[in-house]
Amino acid sequence: MPEGDTVFRAAYRLHAALADKTLVRSDFRIPSLATKDLSGGRIDRVRAAGKHLFVDLTGDGGRALSIHSHLMMDGAWHVYRPGQKWRRPGHRARVVLRTADTEAVGFDLGVLQLTADPAGVVAHLGPDLLGAQWDPAVAAANLAAAPECPLGPALLDQRLLAGIGNIYSNELCFIAGVHPATPVSAAGDLDRLVDIAHRLLTQNALRTVRVTTGDRRRGRELWVYGREHRPCRRCSTIVRRSAITIPPVTTDRVIFYCPSCQPARTVSPSF
Ligand SMILES: [Zn+2]
Repeated sequence: MPEGDTVFRAAYRLHAALADKTLVRSDFRIPSLATKDLSGGRIDRVRAAGKHLFVDLTGDGGRALSIHSHLMMDGAWHVYRPGQKWRRPGHRARVVLRTADTEAVGFDLGVLQLTADPAGVVAHLGPDLLGAQWDPAVAAANLAAAPECPLGPALLDQRLLAGIGNIYSNELCFIAGVHPATPVSAAGDLDRLVDIAHRLLTQNALRTVRVTTGDRRRGRELWVYGREHRPCRRCSTIVRRSAITIPPVTTDRVIFYCPSCQPARTVSPSF
């Protein structure tokens, strides 16, 4: 699952390449949109909302329309010059948008649809960590309203706050000193946690390397994510990997944690 900063960065690159340009061709390669032709449309902007990406355009007759996509597990948007070789196979392309000097290709997109109501698509999302309307108080209150939910999965719940994927969820639990399975009610200072989340995503939004430790050197960027069987950077205890399953989600959430820095808690800590 991509992190919000990945989607933000994709939107930033697409916006720089496509905004204020006219589509000379659109090529939707999924059955539901195969007959759609947006050529002649003018791209107003490309933006992220949580992990959702919108290409807003003005079509024929001045009608506002948005191409909504979600990267889900493996999706990516690439920007090419016309004729440049693609970095993924053509059969994985779901949409190609061409302007006079740019070819934007959406590969393996988990969601791809046209909508005249982009606001409605994301109305269920909590405050967007990288959005202009970011509201930390609402995000913290939303988390607090799910007291029994384990903290790790709660941070991933886009209805509470939008933009956190599994890497940030695990890293934030470590930074807070809280085991990911700890109920939100026992997870300590939620305002502080939400502020750290906002700071990390903002700092990483336009970086190519995601850093939560403050150390940008290769292999030292993250505290616990992907580091099972290796020593904790803080206390040298071996980092563990496990999983949390919460209904109705049937897929396990993989968790990484240091058993010493992140002991299981049932009562509220004081940090
Ligand atoms: Zn540790």
